[in-house]
Amino acid sequence: MPSFVHQRCFNHAGSEAAARCPECRRFFCRECITEHDDRVLCAACLKKLARRPLARRFAFAQIFHLALCAFGVLMAWFFFFLIGEGLSKMPDSFHEGTLWQVHWIDKE
Ligand SMILES: [Zn+2]
Ligand SMILES: [Zn+2]
Repeated sequence: MPSFVHQRCFNHAGSEAAARCPECRRFFCRECITEHDDRVLCAACLKKLARRPLARRFAFAQIFHLALCAFGVLMAWFFFFLIGEGLSKMPDSFHEGTLWQVHWIDKE
């Protein structure tokens, strides 16, 4: 097999690649690659993964914000439901607009 077919390490041009990082799809030698959670990653991607818990916290904050928004919508719906309930309990003449006419007539 010709030597140029072999991939070189992304960091070490002189070293032959031993594995390919599934994250960045670059080739790395045994020195540069590390095993993490049964996955072989390069040092750069391992750093990225190490930073992830912070991103997860941010995602949790987003979920919390979304839940808060949903709660707000629910409260708004409940508020309008109460208004609707109140309106339905009002006399029919109010909805028909005849209630005011009755008063108008009484005054006349
Ligand atoms: Zn990588
Ligand atoms: Zn290397």
